[in-house]
Amino acid sequence: MAELRISGLRAGVAGKEILRGVDLVVRSGEVHAVMGPNGSGKSTLTHVIMGRPGYEVLGGSVTLDGTDLLGLEPWQRAAAGLFSAMQYPTEVPGVALADVLEEALVAVGRGGGDVRGRMRAEAERIGFDERFLDRPLNVDLSGGEKKRNETLQLAVLQPRIAILDEVDSGLDIDALRLVARRVEAETEERDLGVLAITHYRRLLGELRPDVVHVLSRGRVVARGGPELADQLEATGYAGYAEADGEQR
Ligand code: ADP
Ligand code: MG
Repeated sequence: MAELRISGLRAGVAGKEILRGVDLVVRSGEVHAVMGPNGSGKSTLTHVIMGRPGYEVLGGSVTLDGTDLLGLEPWQRAAAGLFSAMQYPTEVPGVALADVLEEALVAVGRGGGDVRGRMRAEAERIGFDERFLDRPLNVDLSGGEKKRNETLQLAVLQPRIAILDEVDSGLDIDALRLVARRVEAETEERDLGVLAITHYRRLLGELRPDVVHVLSRGRVVARGGPELADQLEATGYAGYAEADGEQR
């Protein structure tokens, strides 16, 4: 049983406060969706949890099973069982996905074994061309291919908690279904806990959320069950921005 606990998290960049007190708990087997308008701080939340350089934590805490993550290096957070699929995956010329995954598994103490075989099986499962396994990471990949690439990494690395930042962007309907199903299967077969950031309800048809959180101007302003995502699809975010009661 893993528990990612975000408490009163405040963070910013370049002197600007972006997250203004976020509380959220994700446990094994649960799917939490974070929805919200552009610029509400969704990607910032992912980056701060993963320890991307350039973000300043101004208050609050992030723990995984009680261990303070904010004091750890990004690789240590990954070793603790965190994984993130980025909205804009980085292109890494000269380094192939296969090498990255082999190194990453060694780093988390699970090297050896038939990594290649697992990668090929996963590629087939999500309709990702095997040729990409040996090509430079994310270079010249389409948006959809990058997202499949991230999903394959998730499936091979087997984290305890995964954060997906707009994994639906750039995916066509069929690819979206494959990716969402693959992640949903991890939650059922391996008890993966998921924090899925998305603009749109359609991801959540296959990856069924237990809780939907609405982020607006760096705060969670509403929480509900899956029906909240349906409601947002109909009404948009306007009502929530006003409910927040503060101007930028
Ligand atoms: P979302 O993912 O919800 O669209 P972001 O977390 O990307 O939102 O951004 C939240 C706000 O913080 C936006 O106003 C954005 O312009 C600002 N922001 C994010 N990253 C930076 C940065 N590196 N430098 C300056 N402002 C940033
Ligand atoms: Mg974003």
